[in-house]
Amino acid sequence: MECTAVEPRLSAYMDGEVADAERIEIEAHLTHCDGCAAVYHALLHEAAAIRADLLSVNVPSTMAERVLQAIVERHRTVQAKRLAVVYAVCVLALVSAMVWTLTTAVGRFVHASTRLFLAALHSTVLFLSTSGAAWTIGVMVLCGVLAGLSIFGAVRILRSSEVTA
Ligand SMILES: [Zn+2]
Repeated sequence: MECTAVEPRLSAYMDGEVADAERIEIEAHLTHCDGCAAVYHALLHEAAAIRADLLSVNVPSTMAERVLQAIVERHRTVQAKRLAVVYAVCVLALVSAMVWTLTTAVGRFVHASTRLFLAALHSTVLFLSTSGAAWTIGVMVLCGVLAGLSIFGAVRILRSSEVTA
């Protein structure tokens, strides 16, 4: 092996990153070439100095704790932002639904139907809590008939509005 081939590979050789055949060639070259041996020893010296510098760096004992705390705080911030987006979307959807309910004919119809349904449900619950099984069955049949009529009526209203529109 020539010096020009050995010198660029010395760092890799030092780190044990060369194949066995190349390692044997470099070691043979270093035994008889003073120039490359000097470069190799300079590299070894430099690496030892860097290692000593790294060991002398004083890491504060609270460093790990502070890093973990920073990660937790970052995570919380991201979570809070996501939650804010979800809330904003919910509020927007709610406001849109309210505006739609109050301003459109279909919305007003849905609103009135919902109130009617809730009132029927409420009166049914009140009635069930004060009367017996026969009455219960009778009221449930009546509710079913009323619900059927309501749906029938709603479908008719919607169909007639389609025709006029
Ligand atoms: Zn050499």
